[in-house]
Amino acid sequence: MFVIKFGGTSVTKPESVANIAILVKKHIDEKPILVVSALSGITDLLVKINAVNSDSEQQNIIEQIIEKHDNWIDTVFVNDESAKQDAHFIVGNFLKELKQILLIGFTNQFARHDSVVSFGEKISSALISLYLQKKNINAKQVLATSCIITDNNFGGADFIDAATVKASKKAILPLVDAGIVPVITGFIGATTKGEITVLGRGGSDYSAAIIAYATNSDEVQIWTDVNGVYSADPRVIQSAKLLKSLSYQEAAELAMFGAKVLHPRTIQPAVKIGIPVRVLNTFNLDNTGTIITGNADNSDGIIKSVTWRKLAPLLNIYSADMFLSKGFLQKVFAILTKKGISANLLSASEVSVSITLDNIGLLDEALIELNKFAKTDYLDKFGTISLVGEKIMQTPNLMQDLFNIFQEANVPVQMLSYSASNINISVLVPSEKILDVVPIIHKKFIG
Ligand code: ADP
Ligand code: ASP
Ligand code: MG
Repeated sequence: MFVIKFGGTSVTKPESVANIAILVKKHIDEKPILVVSALSGITDLLVKINAVNSDSEQQNIIEQIIEKHDNWIDTVFVNDESAKQDAHFIVGNFLKELKQILLIGFTNQFARHDSVVSFGEKISSALISLYLQKKNINAKQVLATSCIITDNNFGGADFIDAATVKASKKAILPLVDAGIVPVITGFIGATTKGEITVLGRGGSDYSAAIIAYATNSDEVQIWTDVNGVYSADPRVIQSAKLLKSLSYQEAAELAMFGAKVLHPRTIQPAVKIGIPVRVLNTFNLDNTGTIITGNADNSDGIIKSVTWRKLAPLLNIYSADMFLSKGFLQKVFAILTKKGISANLLSASEVSVSITLDNIGLLDEALIELNKFAKTDYLDKFGTISLVGEKIMQTPNLMQDLFNIFQEANVPVQMLSYSASNINISVLVPSEKILDVVPIIHKKFIG
């Protein structure tokens, strides 16, 4: 049994949709469980619905959602009128349900947001399931609300371990045992009270890993639109190298520090039971992709990858008299946590702490509380560049060469962070300079 996840592009383009059926047929005896994302662009439109107020604006966005699905139906089910009819019926029903939700007065706007944005995956999983049925595959749509049980951190929920294992086994295993291929919605889950939650943007990778963990599957495969994980985003750095393998730690760091190919939390459930995560290309079925396991291996070189995050705002917090005493750091982090802010990099001195923010949560409220006992400044035009690789510090002259590059390119380095695990060196630089230096850094350290 293994879990295969198909991302937005993979479920949108007719050629990759055809490849999904080919893959499922080829591996049918290995009992595949599918997890799918929404069609490309649909989640963005659903997010927009939440942001507009008037009925006409909402209607306009719904029309765009209909148009994108209609185009999909026309190209994927070309010459099959009965399939087209079934597919239109599916989309129509879900959109009717969406319109009803838009009329309900939610007391919690975050809960409303998640209910609305869940429709992309609800529709895509039903359509992909229908497509597979038309290809004579015994497939069935499964809503992850019956498998992934989460906390109520709407917008970026996390799964509750025991409840998810129990629910997933109950919802998925009888289907697999009966020879049915479950087609599960990525991205979404539900609280113990049954409220719909989402796992964060790009979260379908995480969904796949959670399902693999909960069903004790042998492997998770993330099928996307590139051949695997590269030494840098291959759409930006043409000379980027495809990596044959990565350790869990390397993959987690790479995702956390900007490589969009994997959602940052994907690795966590896989590590728990030591199952491999493979990244593969739905548009090129012959490639072998990248395998991520517990083993560090230097066959791709010591420095595996250069990643960047265009936006990593910096929060500096100064306290002349009480730093490192009277629980200063503890107080700072308690406030950040309470206001939904998570940190990425951290650097501390005797009198100050600098933190780059992964997400800004309720920043204004946090600043008011922090300013009661410290001085703060917030700089939002910065981003990070990171070098990732186990044993990275074995690279001769690493720091010297890196800083020479910044000096020659006249790029000021605002902060440096080097993780104790020796896996990641990150520097904070002005966002607008990142793409000037990334190609130079990649060339110098990876080639
Ligand atoms: P999906 O819709 O399949 O989830 P994403 O767009 O989320 O796909 O992720 C795939 C994209 O990630 C690629 O098209 C590529 O541009 C980008 N990417 C960024 N960094 C990397 C990297 N190091 N290796 C591979 N792809 C990367
Ligand atoms: N559809 C969701 C998003 O666009 C989840 C995903 O694609 O992984 O963020
Ligand atoms: Mg993705």
